[in-house]
Amino acid sequence: MSFRSARDHEGDLELGADVVVVGSGASGAVVAHELQKSGQRVVVLEEGPRIPADDYSRMSISESLRHMWRDGGMTVAVGVGDSPTINVTMGRVVGGSSVLTGGVCFRTPDRVLSNWQREHGLPSYGSASMEGAFDYVEDKVHVETVPEAMRSKATTLFDRGMKKRGLALEPIRRNTKGCRGCGRCNFGCPEKAKLSVDLSFLPQAVEAGAEVVSHCLVEKVLSKRGRAVGVQGRVLNGPGGRPGGKLKVHARRVVIACGAWHTPLLLRKSGVGKRSKALGKRMTLHPGCRMMARFDEKVEGWKGAMQSAFSEAFEARGLTLVSVFIPPSVVGATLPGIGAEHQRHAQMLPNIAMFGGMIHDEGGGTVRRGPGREPVVTYRMAPRDRGRVRDLIRTLGEVYLDAGAKEIFPPILGLPGGLDADAFRSLDLDSIPLSRFEVTSQHPLGTARMGPDGKHAVVDEHGEAFDLEELYVVDGSIVPTSLGVNPQLSIMALATRLAWEMRDRPLPA
Ligand SMILES: Cc1cc2nc3c(=O)[nH]c(=O)nc-3n(C[C@H](O)[C@H](O)[C@H](O)COP(=O)(O)OP(=O)(O)OC[C@H]3O[C@@H](n4cnc5c(N)ncnc54)[C@H](O)[C@@H]3O)c2cc1C
Ligand code: SF4
Repeated sequence: MSFRSARDHEGDLELGADVVVVGSGASGAVVAHELQKSGQRVVVLEEGPRIPADDYSRMSISESLRHMWRDGGMTVAVGVGDSPTINVTMGRVVGGSSVLTGGVCFRTPDRVLSNWQREHGLPSYGSASMEGAFDYVEDKVHVETVPEAMRSKATTLFDRGMKKRGLALEPIRRNTKGCRGCGRCNFGCPEKAKLSVDLSFLPQAVEAGAEVVSHCLVEKVLSKRGRAVGVQGRVLNGPGGRPGGKLKVHARRVVIACGAWHTPLLLRKSGVGKRSKALGKRMTLHPGCRMMARFDEKVEGWKGAMQSAFSEAFEARGLTLVSVFIPPSVVGATLPGIGAEHQRHAQMLPNIAMFGGMIHDEGGGTVRRGPGREPVVTYRMAPRDRGRVRDLIRTLGEVYLDAGAKEIFPPILGLPGGLDADAFRSLDLDSIPLSRFEVTSQHPLGTARMGPDGKHAVVDEHGEAFDLEELYVVDGSIVPTSLGVNPQLSIMALATRLAWEMRDRPLPA
């Protein structure tokens, strides 16, 4: 069939399908592809616009933020108690957050899967049973190892510091083909080298006959006699892309793939998961920090693949270190000071290196209905994780100092500027409230968890809601715990497995 924009449609829109998939991101795209390929008629509804790669490849960073990122990248989880307020970013575009990733691909670690088997009532989720889905997805999106030659100097300097401690970085794998190392992955790859789902699963689903309709905001799942029979919402064809006409799609099966930030809202509005203590609760985020360091030598960290290497050497302390570099204009804006002070720091830009890390968190996020379209999300960081954030900052700074950095810029609001080795080491991190720490996240997970019963989970091991037949959830919200590694590959493999199971279950008459 086709990609089409409901913004160009006048008035109300009513459609019919075997399966309606809500959300066109990493998980929705996979499910749409698998089901359409098996002969079921699939309609995918996406709230955001469709921006073809030819268009986003020409966008400036601010245009990408405005058109493809939800809320221009300003979404936050508000810190409660001694917790940081965390900037949590996601996509709102055909292809979802997949279009904005750094391309990093990790399989779900075996230790995490065993924990799901043992502690979360999911005995069928062993490594061996997930292997086929991982192999399949990796092949479809071309997961490859980033060669050392593509590492940025910011990364090789960090590796130098790691080696001084007898450790070393390991190469990352990414879903790329023909990457030229321009470091713009988070704003849509201008080279079409990152095989996000808008360039892989979605066009293949459309080729097989699926319809992908953008500018469709789904507000409720429709049900009849305990079974999902479609969805309703608004067509975003009003002035300025605001809600205009009514939207209704009749379907024999409903698949929710809105991401962990929005799925609980939609389920709650539809009366699903009411009995569950898990809906909208215990969201995990992989809270992360990035550390900047100034070297005497030129770094020009923007040259090279944005993310190329990682370390699990500190996994026992709940830390995963991952290379990162954001475009120089954004780095410049985050350097401390104002006026002449900021200018002095900005002039250091070519000598600034950056490396990041995230913590394997327990999950303290809660999603509640907000006054408008977006939810209000709060995050109460677990006491153990508060120590981990401080540990992460100390570790990133120490490794760069070992590599020869002259100044360290900890991501803490209100510090006067760069700190030399003595000043950094004497900084009493424990006495600084976490509300001053700059913490970000790109990985919300776990707000409609999968599990063995409807009290502690929202969907069963097949992704089907406990209290509404033929309603499936396949996105990051079903992931029962944080993973400790970037989640897109896990989410896509889970969605593949669930899609294969759905394919083999006859649709209701
Ligand atoms: C900047 C950034 C960088 C990242 N880098 C990496 C990385 O390198 N490696 C990695 O593994 N992961 C990365 N991630 C995370 C990864 O992209 C996500 O974990 C993954 O895409 C989540 O998949 P999903 O299907 O759950 O949701 P998404 O991919 O976010 O898709 C959800 C879609 O549903 C739509 N939607 C929501 N509500 C509605 C509604 N009511 N009606 C209609 N449509 C709706 C949204 O607009 C969105 O398009 C990154 C994320 C970001 C934002
Ligand atoms: S580094 Fe550049 S070419 Fe490579 S995937 Fe990222 S945006 Fe595309």
